[in-house]
Amino acid sequence: MRIPRLALMAGAVASLLFAGTAHAATAPAPAFKPVLTKNPLYKAGKLGTRTCDEPPVNNGTVEEAEVYFSSVMDCLKQAWAPVVKKAGFRFSTPKLTVITKVGTKTPCGKFQEGSQAEYCPKSNSIAFLLSPDIVEEPRNLALMAVLAHEYGHHIQQLTGILKASDSLYRTTEARALDASRRSELQAECMSGAFVGRVWGSLGRSSAEWDALLNSTHNWLNLSSIGVKVRSGADETHGKDSNVAYWAKRGFKAQSASACNTWTAPKAKVL
Ligand SMILES: [Zn+2]
Repeated sequence: MRIPRLALMAGAVASLLFAGTAHAATAPAPAFKPVLTKNPLYKAGKLGTRTCDEPPVNNGTVEEAEVYFSSVMDCLKQAWAPVVKKAGFRFSTPKLTVITKVGTKTPCGKFQEGSQAEYCPKSNSIAFLLSPDIVEEPRNLALMAVLAHEYGHHIQQLTGILKASDSLYRTTEARALDASRRSELQAECMSGAFVGRVWGSLGRSSAEWDALLNSTHNWLNLSSIGVKVRSGADETHGKDSNVAYWAKRGFKAQSASACNTWTAPKAKVL
């Protein structure tokens, strides 16, 4: 008698759990604003340039690295300005502030330890950390991707996405984290769209892109050059497999059309 009873209890618990899971899976996605789910940016087509001429890096100086990243910023402008305008928004360029030490005051406030780069909507600027390792090897593809990710946040700012997602951070913790991941994964996808659009002009091997997708912790694993980026980011930035998923989507589409994370099923934004 005891066995069936236990089995029954176990069955009851299992079905309760299952009911709970089924409910969560079919629960409607949070009702996001149209500026997030139907932004005209998604229909503005492929990015504006297929070419990004990377300047040579010979001496490993700060000046050289600054020139390198400024030139990537120019490429990002050529890529995004036409589609932002086509989508009906005003375009402006963010300012790039290069710093060489964590803790330095930037237009975004104090630069945080563990970050590689930060976008600051209030001052419309990107702060980018040039640690000694990066100064030596600024052409690492991961760094271009990081800069393009921050530029993605700027594009979100120009198109009203950042402002609309901000209000979601003042709800429950679970909803705030969900919104954070949708926003971050969208920036990751936009980064992929840029890299994919100019890929043919970069003269890099596909192994380099694959290595980036396979690196653990978002683009974070720059350990080959001794750099940690966006540490402990899973909850706010998404798990590695989803980061790779969105970056790949952007890369393939070469457009923000692939980057609508706001209508994506929950499983793709975990
Ligand atoms: Zn980000």
